[in-house]
Amino acid sequence: MFRNNMRRLEYTVRMTCKLIFGMSQTLVLNASYEPLNITSWRRAVILMIKGKAESLEEDQSYSIHCGQKLPTVIRLRYYVKVPFRDVSLTRKNILLRDNNSCQYCNHKGSDLSIDHVLPRSRGGTDKWENVTTACLRCNVQKGNRTPEEANMPLRRKPYRPLSNLNFEATRQIDSGKHKEWSKYVIGIAA
Ligand SMILES: [Zn+2]
Repeated sequence: MFRNNMRRLEYTVRMTCKLIFGMSQTLVLNASYEPLNITSWRRAVILMIKGKAESLEEDQSYSIHCGQKLPTVIRLRYYVKVPFRDVSLTRKNILLRDNNSCQYCNHKGSDLSIDHVLPRSRGGTDKWENVTTACLRCNVQKGNRTPEEANMPLRRKPYRPLSNLNFEATRQIDSGKHKEWSKYVIGIAA
């Protein structure tokens, strides 16, 4: 009986660890500190053990081995050349960049539209830095004005995403899961 209970407890602990650690992800930076990709903590630890990466940020609440804390940001010791991939300016990608939320009032819903920060009628162009996600209400309220004129400050300045990694990193930072990533990802205000 006692043994069975112990076994069950051990199993629960093991599964909980697996669940927590399994969900935990690590941001991988190039030797130049540019974000490269997001990987599992297991792969991050392997890179560290092999001497290929160093840990920059750690989750202090989890120890993995010999006092080593769970790495949440690592940096490669060698430089990896990455070809530049332009992210196309589409409605879907703009919404993704803006975490599917109105950049004026933070509303999330199906009534999201694309707003030109400097209105098109006043020379505003279709470029990443001039388009933002706005709910219909805010879009109508802002009308033919700039955010300053309408006294509607943007929650985040529109930026050109460097890669799809930006989207995923933004999503995780916004969800509160990996706030410590924000200082390494360009275009994201902490
Ligand atoms: Zn809004």
